[in-house]
Amino acid sequence: MKDTNLTQKRKNEILTIVNQILRIAKFNGRSIDVVDLANKNGFSVFGLKEDAEIDGAIIGRKDKDILNIIAYKKNLSEKENRFIIAHELGHFFLHFDNEKFNFGGTFAYAYHDHRNLSKSLEEEADFFAANLLMPKDIFLEEVKKIGELARYKIGQNLLSDIFNVTPECIKLRLGETDAF
Ligand SMILES: [Zn+2]
Repeated sequence: MKDTNLTQKRKNEILTIVNQILRIAKFNGRSIDVVDLANKNGFSVFGLKEDAEIDGAIIGRKDKDILNIIAYKKNLSEKENRFIIAHELGHFFLHFDNEKFNFGGTFAYAYHDHRNLSKSLEEEADFFAANLLMPKDIFLEEVKKIGELARYKIGQNLLSDIFNVTPECIKLRLGETDAF
């Protein structure tokens, strides 16, 4: 998750999709269950061996009778893995029909190191993940409660526990949402 070059138009399109997902999930909490969301969309979620070369992966196919998989690396923290799973879900919701994502028509692959994908597709998946895990309105509400502390590590750690994402994610999100 970093500063993006995405156009406002594309951001709005992604936000519309995220909001739809949150509405369907009847989500009104602070920490969405990304594994459950993946399961409900036909994906099984697996931990990869610690020496796996990738942090995360999504393997999907449009016909339903084969296993659709989202994988994450076992030795990362739960907070890190939630972002990876949300990022991979972003590829599913945003790019499943994208040609660059589609090998031979039926398979759609992505790996977290994404040799085959353009930077902008990666940024889109990151933007999707940040908004899924820390929806702007809810995020700013929590920042407001914490007040000035959110500028400091202690406040950011608190937000990190509330949203179940890493403090680094929180820091970036504070910048992205113009929280101050
Ligand atoms: Zn990716």
